[in-house]
Amino acid sequence: MDFDVIVIGSGPGGYVTAIRASQLGFKTAIVEREALGGICLNWGCIPTKALLKSGEAYENLSHLSDYGVKVEKASFDFSKVIERSRKVAGQLNAGVAFLMKKHKIEVIEGIAKLEKGQGAPKVVVALKAGGSRSAQAKHVILATGARARTIPAIGLAPDGERVWTYREAMVPKTTPKTLVVIGSGAIGIEFASFYRALGSEVTVVEALPRILPVEDEEVSKAAHKAFEKRGLKFRVGASVKKLTTSRTGVSIELEAGGKTETLAADVAIVAVGIAGNVEDLGLEGLGVKIEKSHVVTDGHGGTGVAGLYAIGDVAGPPWLAHKASHEGVHCIEHIAGLKPANLTSPIPGCTYSNPQIASVGLTEAQAKEQGLAIKVGRFPFRVNGKAIASGELEGFVKTVFDEKTGALIGAHLIGAEVTEMIQGFTLAITLEATEAELMATVFPHPTMSEAMHESVLDAYGRVLHI
Ligand code: NAD
Repeated sequence: MDFDVIVIGSGPGGYVTAIRASQLGFKTAIVEREALGGICLNWGCIPTKALLKSGEAYENLSHLSDYGVKVEKASFDFSKVIERSRKVAGQLNAGVAFLMKKHKIEVIEGIAKLEKGQGAPKVVVALKAGGSRSAQAKHVILATGARARTIPAIGLAPDGERVWTYREAMVPKTTPKTLVVIGSGAIGIEFASFYRALGSEVTVVEALPRILPVEDEEVSKAAHKAFEKRGLKFRVGASVKKLTTSRTGVSIELEAGGKTETLAADVAIVAVGIAGNVEDLGLEGLGVKIEKSHVVTDGHGGTGVAGLYAIGDVAGPPWLAHKASHEGVHCIEHIAGLKPANLTSPIPGCTYSNPQIASVGLTEAQAKEQGLAIKVGRFPFRVNGKAIASGELEGFVKTVFDEKTGALIGAHLIGAEVTEMIQGFTLAITLEATEAELMATVFPHPTMSEAMHESVLDAYGRVLHI
């Protein structure tokens, strides 16, 4: 055996799994075809947060007079905005390289493919530096991630100029004057928010009846209103049927309510979901089961093929970095015989637009669909002292409780920095906290998090500040 564990893919699923494997005493290698840190650190979560911060900083300038601050003339240098985002990605990429070294994890740069081996499949890597290397490990963990779903048949695929996926949208030379974003999931909404902040005329097209369709309906509605206030336009219940490009822009054919219409713009961003990276890995030859571009796994990452596991995006939804890391740690601890807890912890979801959106657990509708009797609480930020002092009046906190047990089963937030607050509720649901325990928790004053407390109180008719 060359290694105990080989991890394929070094995104937040793969590199975290490799670190944990090394901590557990496994001789570990990680194979990466592109850049350490995967999409998240290089082309996803992190560089988009850098872009959004620049957008927000610029947009906030127009409100500074509300705070008694005068700015004569604001402008931005787009190339510097992009440069900063790339630098941030580079810094984190270097950080992963450091972590691999620190944990004595061998990094193999190249494209991995699996072949039948002794026990676990053999990993054959076409090396970046040329040639190939074959390695056998006791356990192979696939963490190859996912990519933007494209639909070339109707023109929803990047063309290197006018049609972008998240990847092209992160490094253009200039901001488009007019932009159509196709899809209103987290990716679509974050880019719509960023380009709107820098002055683009943005229209978001969503096939389903509301934006951010996975969120609680009240949050979707509030987000729609808040984004419209910032000048974003929406076409919901409108499905893109065809996108064509010309030298000057894009033309997008929509179907809404049985009628067809056409939108024109300089650029389109395609954000219609993602597809797992399952191709060219030799999975078919090994008999790995693939459904809807994802590897089918048991409750611990096992694929049914001896010694082969899959975690993170390639193993299916939710396609979130923190889910990938969590699954990876679980998988390697299971391999080590540690009997980790089942993968039932609630997974929070965050959208880093302006305003931000964050949620965990069941929506009100999902709880009702499950036949649960529920109690729902709400508290708006507009009456929260810290929010008023900060001029961050937008949004609210909504909580959903199981009436029978008093357990918190869902929390849905929209507003400033709610992506930093959601962890409080995630912890509460993970620890199966009840309304009584949440009410007994002391929230610091003055903070926006007091709205979390008030939302709990509201669900039980005890709200204090309304
Ligand atoms: P998504 O699946 O969340 O959203 C895609 C949207 O496109 C859907 O609402 C769908 O109805 C719509 N759509 C599909 N085809 C369409 C058509 N022809 N016309 C109009 N609308 C159409 O996908 P995404 O936003 O691309 O994100 C992919 C994944 O990555 C998501 O699971 C997301 O959670 C994750 N992600 C998370 C973050 C974050 O946590 N902040 C950021 C980026 C991505």
